[in-house]
Amino acid sequence: MTTTPDRPAGVEALRDTPGVGVQLVGLTRRYGDVLALDGLDLDIAGGEFLALLGPSGCGKTTALRAIAGFERPDDGQVLVDGRDVTGTPPAKRDMGMVFQAYSLFPNLTVAENVGYGLQVRRRPAKERKARAAELLELVGLAANAGRYPHQLSGGQQQRVALARALAVAPKVLLLDEPLSALDAQVRVQLREEIRRIQLELGITTVFVTHDQAEALSVADRVGVLRAGRLEQVASPDELYERPATAFVAEFVGTMNRIPATRTEGGVELMGVRRPAVGDVPVSGDVVALVRPESLLVRADAAGAGRVVTRTFSGASTRLAVALPDGAEVVVDVASADSQQLTPGTAVTVTPAERPVLVGAV
Ligand code: ADP
Ligand code: MG
Repeated sequence: MTTTPDRPAGVEALRDTPGVGVQLVGLTRRYGDVLALDGLDLDIAGGEFLALLGPSGCGKTTALRAIAGFERPDDGQVLVDGRDVTGTPPAKRDMGMVFQAYSLFPNLTVAENVGYGLQVRRRPAKERKARAAELLELVGLAANAGRYPHQLSGGQQQRVALARALAVAPKVLLLDEPLSALDAQVRVQLREEIRRIQLELGITTVFVTHDQAEALSVADRVGVLRAGRLEQVASPDELYERPATAFVAEFVGTMNRIPATRTEGGVELMGVRRPAVGDVPVSGDVVALVRPESLLVRADAAGAGRVVTRTFSGASTRLAVALPDGAEVVVDVASADSQQLTPGTAVTVTPAERPVLVGAV
């Protein structure tokens, strides 16, 4: 992907350029019978970090490729900075892309990889070297310029891929599951690093992932994609606290499905009544959707629940509790309060006094 020949490259150029808005309008893409994008509408603000989150096959890569220009939609438009680029080839869109992994040129050094886009643009060797050096500095790999990709760890290789994508000072940064091939710890480090760099440069970024924790932790807003359509676009907090649909509720974070019955204005679950958030399905059986931290558990010799497993994770501890009707719920408690709650302990579980989301069974 190219910039116009006289457009400056490098970190300064990125810092000095305000992020541009990207709009997707009714994007539709069919592959035979499969509707990969089903009229996708999305408005991404300049400088925003937007995560596209969804299960495998929901259309994330197709959406990203349509933004980049590798994919021609059957219908709809892509606008960048208000300009329709739907028919513009990828090389003229000024976008940088980072893929899942293994995308570096194995026979080029790290610096040559980073300078590759500038070489394609026939920039002089001196400039390429200078740009590569400053980009490698930005991603914390200044000392590795002369190495080859196979001499780097997976996380380092993805840093190089990021530097390479940014070297041409793109208007938009597109990342397609860039961390999914990495170890858990490296994944967390690198996502924070990507966010730091994105904020520093103010570049409009679309980050595709199937990992909800990843999306919630780095993005300004998260768009939850399901079967080629957006279920909800919202800030991480809002998505977690006020999921618009049962699909979002269960895809984002851990969610208990607890059998419930309708009451006036809400539902009854686990022997207590709670108001409903939003609508209650009008027919059929319903379930209350309750987060693990919204269930209260206490040791109670007369309690009908039994702790099945206890998983310590630092400040909080997660309990699986079997209920008398055979259902199992997951409950998070402060670790300091959980010492007595060992497997086999009889307990009472109560939903916290707050409105609950209600879904169909
Ligand atoms: P995701 O990235 O969310 O996993 P994709 O965008 O890759 O999903 O794919 C969305 C849907 O389109 C899937 O059902 C996938 O099988 C289908 N698809 C994607 N690319 C092609 C293709 N080139 N040919 C046929 N089907 C495709
Ligand atoms: Mg994909």
